[in-house]
Amino acid sequence: MQKFYGGSLMLCPSFISKNIFYPVWDIWDKSKKLQVLKSLEKSQWKESVELELYQWQRFKDILNYAYLNSPYYKKLFDNKGLTPDSFRTRADLPLLPITRKLDVRNNLEKFLSVPYDKAELIQAKTGGSTGFSLELYFDKACQEHRNAAALRSDRWAGWNLGMVRGELWGNPPRAGSLKEKIRHELLDRVFYLDTMQINGDSIASFLNVCSQHNIEVIFGHAHSIYIYAKYIHEQRLSVAPLKGIIATSMMLLSHERELIEKVFACKVTNRYGCEEVGLIACECEKHHGMHINAENVLVEFIREDGTAADENEMAKIVVTDLRNQGMPLLRYQIEDMGSFSSRVCACGRGLPLLEKVSGRVADFLKTSNGDSVAGISLIERTLTKVIGIEQMQLVQDELERLKVNRVKGQGYTDNSDQILIGELKQVFGDDVSIDIWDVDSIPQLANGKYRFSICNL
Ligand SMILES: [Zn+2]
Repeated sequence: MQKFYGGSLMLCPSFISKNIFYPVWDIWDKSKKLQVLKSLEKSQWKESVELELYQWQRFKDILNYAYLNSPYYKKLFDNKGLTPDSFRTRADLPLLPITRKLDVRNNLEKFLSVPYDKAELIQAKTGGSTGFSLELYFDKACQEHRNAAALRSDRWAGWNLGMVRGELWGNPPRAGSLKEKIRHELLDRVFYLDTMQINGDSIASFLNVCSQHNIEVIFGHAHSIYIYAKYIHEQRLSVAPLKGIIATSMMLLSHERELIEKVFACKVTNRYGCEEVGLIACECEKHHGMHINAENVLVEFIREDGTAADENEMAKIVVTDLRNQGMPLLRYQIEDMGSFSSRVCACGRGLPLLEKVSGRVADFLKTSNGDSVAGISLIERTLTKVIGIEQMQLVQDELERLKVNRVKGQGYTDNSDQILIGELKQVFGDDVSIDIWDVDSIPQLANGKYRFSICNL
């Protein structure tokens, strides 16, 4: 079975894609993405003081906007006797209560901004950030800012506009409409290795495509890239060195990084983000800490008692999306822990540094026919499909048996578990027995990590 997608136009030179198709697409799509990218390319070199000021102005703008247009925040401000003017400096931030995932889940309609028509907003569903399902919306301009920021950090890792790339994801998107197909061929130029079904054949096909198309940069979940590198290492396969590797969406463990860098003779660029706000931070070419995407998000590090943490102190990560007017998210707790540093990066960029992050870990699980399944992708897929499941964790102690720790959520019915079992059997086969355990929560480990899937085989 073919595990990758793509067509003949992949043969088009990357400079044509970069210099012709990208700009033409922006005009066709009435998008400001490239314009925003250009401004981000400049602003990253500004002094940190200047960037802080710019960020604060954006924060005040979105605060004002949310107060006037988001019924949830209007009420929150009113209940606390606050107005946007109550926030004069960063020290005033704790005045505004933190927004949690459950607040969003239980009040979704009230978060949405009144001037926007919900049908015109872009919808996203998440399951991967903490194994917690959530429906989200954002406006088109916000999407352009998010995409531009991602492109900027892709370029730090050695990728550039127009370059064909390899991606290791579960449930890779398939181009449906003609517009999507054209975009896929001319701009995205991606070949996928589907991490829902990793085996010797799918890896061989993907390696073949990488060499055929001279793919120099790959993207994927940190653990998926590690499994891929480990297979290549164990099978003693020969691969051409890469120019860049971007590991994202989950924790990149140090032994994983070491092996990936050895196999591909290339540095790994660690990146941190989430569906709710997009890119939060990314390593630059110096690979020493991650630069915060400060033009688009304001990141705080908050102690249990609600006060701001000191430099290098692990604390809860709380973010404000500075661009999303469609569904403002202010002081949103991601459920990961992290710390910041005030040191200046050797690259010279003024963007602040996220020093450490402790978050998501998910093992690969195994099917009886020998395929490996990326736990993070599996959780994402099932949580976004099955209604009524708030959070889940998969544990595999035996090949033919899967234990599911499941937290009931809004909309749960007797049917929810049956649908969940059906989804899992589609991946693991009908012979696998699936035991669902009703639990109140999936506890975070002491170090702040969430383990979505545990494979003890
Ligand atoms: Zn740097």
